[in-house]
Amino acid sequence: MLRIPSQLYQQMIDHCLQWYPSEACGILSGKKGKVEKVYRMKNADDGSVKGSAVRYTMDSLELLKVTQSIRREEKEMIGIFHSHVASEPYPSQTDINLAFYPDAVYVIISLKDRRCPVARGYRVVEKEITPEELKVDL
Ligand SMILES: [Zn+2]
Repeated sequence: MLRIPSQLYQQMIDHCLQWYPSEACGILSGKKGKVEKVYRMKNADDGSVKGSAVRYTMDSLELLKVTQSIRREEKEMIGIFHSHVASEPYPSQTDINLAFYPDAVYVIISLKDRRCPVARGYRVVEKEITPEELKVDL
């Protein structure tokens, strides 16, 4: 289970809505399955034509800075999130192929209905997908 305080959950949703119609991505840090910080990342795939990215790539320098900051704060990278702008919140084949962090929960936010974003969590270990419950704490 991944617990997310509602305020941070909202930050994650806002970030995804801001990048719409491109996919958005980011990192969740914390400890013991509880999210303490949301890192809004830029989608490096969203280049010359803004709003055209149908997949996401984290900028490697930005990712390095974030992982260093997480380590400095003695936290862990417990989640990686991204949005699906037109499909269900379920890992795509690309998501599975690029899931290199077995210790992180992959959170996918579907904006198929933008008034009602749906977030789901998964573990992806050696291309096996297991649902992981997300609990938003009020
Ligand atoms: Zn995806």
